[in-house]
Amino acid sequence: MDFKEFKKMERRASRTSFVYVGTLIILLLIDLLTPIHKTIDAKEVEYKTEKAENLSNYINLKTYSFSNLYLPTNVINETEVESQSAAIEPNEEKIVIDNNDNEIETTTVIEPSKKYKSLGVFKITGYCACKKCCGKTNGITASGTHVTANRTIGVDPKQIPYGTKIKIGDSDIEYVAEDCGGGDNTNHIDIYFNTHQDALMWGVKYLEVFIIEK
Ligand SMILES: [Zn+2]
Repeated sequence: MDFKEFKKMERRASRTSFVYVGTLIILLLIDLLTPIHKTIDAKEVEYKTEKAENLSNYINLKTYSFSNLYLPTNVINETEVESQSAAIEPNEEKIVIDNNDNEIETTTVIEPSKKYKSLGVFKITGYCACKKCCGKTNGITASGTHVTANRTIGVDPKQIPYGTKIKIGDSDIEYVAEDCGGGDNTNHIDIYFNTHQDALMWGVKYLEVFIIEK
C-alpha cells in the first residue's frame, strides 16, 4: 500500500465515521427531542388544565357575582312591580329603586275613589242672588250659608238634606245642597251662579244626579 492509497482509505474511513457519527447524533437528537416533546406535551396539558380550572373559577366567580349583584336588583324590581300592581292605599309609603339602585322613599297621595249614588235624572236649572231669582238679594241660603258659585245648589231638602254633596252629570264640581227652590222642587236642582246672565246661559238641562259618598 502506497501513501496515495493509504490517504484514500483514510478519507473513506473518515467519511464512514462521519456518517456514523452523524447518524448517531441524529438518533441522539431524536431520542433527546422525544422526551422534550413529551415534557412540553405534559406541560401543555397541565397548562390547559390550569387554564380550564381558571376559566371554571372565573365562570363560577362571574355566576357568583351575577347572583350577588344582579339577582337582588331583579328581586327588588319584581317586588316593585308587585307593589305597583297591588291596590294602592291612600298615603301609602313606597320604596322605589332609581337607576343608580338608590332607595327613594315616596309617599303616594291618592284620594280614595269616591263613591257615587245615583238619584236618577233631575231637571237642572240655574239661579243667581237677584230679586228676580230669589225675591231677595242678601245671598243667604235657606240653610243659612252664603251663596257660593260652583258649590251652592238649591234642592228639595226633604229629598236631598242640606249639606249633602252632589255631583251633577259629568261635572267634577262638588256641589253642596244649601238652598231650597220655591215650591215643589222634587227631582229638580237649581245651581247657583254669580250673575243672572250665567244662570240664563245654563238654561234647563236634564242630567243624572249623584250623592257623593266618601
Ligand atoms: Zn237672578
